[in-house]
Amino acid sequence: MYITDLNRAGGIGANSLFVEIGPFRVLVDAGMHPKAVGREAMPRFELLDDVALDLIILTHCHLDHLGSLPVVAREHPGAEIWMSRESAVLAPRMMRNSVRVMSRQREEADIPEYPLFTDGEVKALEERFTPIPIGHTSQLHVNGQVLEVEFYHAGHVPGAVSVLLRHGKESIMLSGDVLFTDQHILPGASRDIPKNVNALVLETTRGGTSREPGQSRDEEIERLVDTIADTISQGGSVLLPVFALGRMQEILSILHEGFQEKLIPECPVYTSGLGMDLANYFDYLSKKNSPLRFRKRILKDLNVRRMPRDIFPGKNPPGPAIYVASSGMMVANTPSYRLAAAMIGEPSNAICFVGYCDPDAHGYKVLSSKPGDSILFETLDYRATSRANIERFDLSSHADREELLDYAIAMNPGTVILSHGDPDARGWFEEELYASVLDSRIIDPEPLKRVHC
Ligand SMILES: [Zn+2]
Ligand SMILES: [Zn+2]
Repeated sequence: MYITDLNRAGGIGANSLFVEIGPFRVLVDAGMHPKAVGREAMPRFELLDDVALDLIILTHCHLDHLGSLPVVAREHPGAEIWMSRESAVLAPRMMRNSVRVMSRQREEADIPEYPLFTDGEVKALEERFTPIPIGHTSQLHVNGQVLEVEFYHAGHVPGAVSVLLRHGKESIMLSGDVLFTDQHILPGASRDIPKNVNALVLETTRGGTSREPGQSRDEEIERLVDTIADTISQGGSVLLPVFALGRMQEILSILHEGFQEKLIPECPVYTSGLGMDLANYFDYLSKKNSPLRFRKRILKDLNVRRMPRDIFPGKNPPGPAIYVASSGMMVANTPSYRLAAAMIGEPSNAICFVGYCDPDAHGYKVLSSKPGDSILFETLDYRATSRANIERFDLSSHADREELLDYAIAMNPGTVILSHGDPDARGWFEEELYASVLDSRIIDPEPLKRVHC
């Protein structure tokens, strides 16, 4: 068995892993690097030029896993494309949004190769999707050979799966992005651990972060609700920058409970586009025997309103109110970016970060600012002074590192392959796995190098 990490930059980015198992050629995920642009943002698919892929598997619909799927699928017209039932519904919506974002970037940032695919291609691609049920073994037959594929519920976001591949005596488990803790809208990952696994590809996102005592998820939710309640009752407004897929609906569900239990004073809730559409999809999936638990009624009960159009830098928007706005990392020109420029100068406001924020992202500048710091909102040509209450809450959608370590030890595979993490995160896992009872081989694969496992 061989694996090749096609994510040219390493770390977390354009996630895509090429697996050779028996005669089968399988690609797991085809992402786009959130910080790169154009072809450089894609996995190095050129390494597959002489390969005919049999199967492409999507673990979930975040763009660092899904963003370049139409490109690799176009280059491998004979490959089957498998994903969970939820992802088969959500992926086309996410990809159509990418087409729109890339078309805008083509003009604004002068990237002539954008969009890398079109709405028409997304529609045609959808026809090739095979939705695979979670918890059953599915088989792919090629030339009389059989590849067994099993999906495990991975928590993280709706539709996310871990993937087990078996051929003859060889097997490989890919964790994908995984969260074991329950969220409001989604149960945590399956605790079923497959036996006799040769190789485990393990995500290591939180390897560099330890959870502080007193910061359990429930305690963090309580602290978030308290912060929102205090801000609103003192006449300020709250901005929650969120990812549109999963995190926005999770936060709306937490707010819903906060209002129902009268913990948060009555006030309007505003949200932005894609997340509202996805909320409708979640409602549909929740009715279809999915582990997902999100109903449209929440939007009605909250009387959610579309974001006001007239948001201007330095001009505090209507309040007191709660703004749940994408993007989670305040990418330039997104609603959360524009709202931050409008709200950050007002000491009665709060900006609450509830998810991952890359140190190079604009959101990180806001997050790490001290009162009185000056922050440039470059694309708005506006310099603000940070005066709002800025807080971070540890509500990560990735498992704690100790949980992942226990998971690897319980699986006891012959080889552990580290993935989806920065160098310090992988370093922690490497050290801890060596120090553990496992006698697994541990590999931190060099990008673009074929590794025997
Ligand atoms: Zn993810
Ligand atoms: Zn990811």
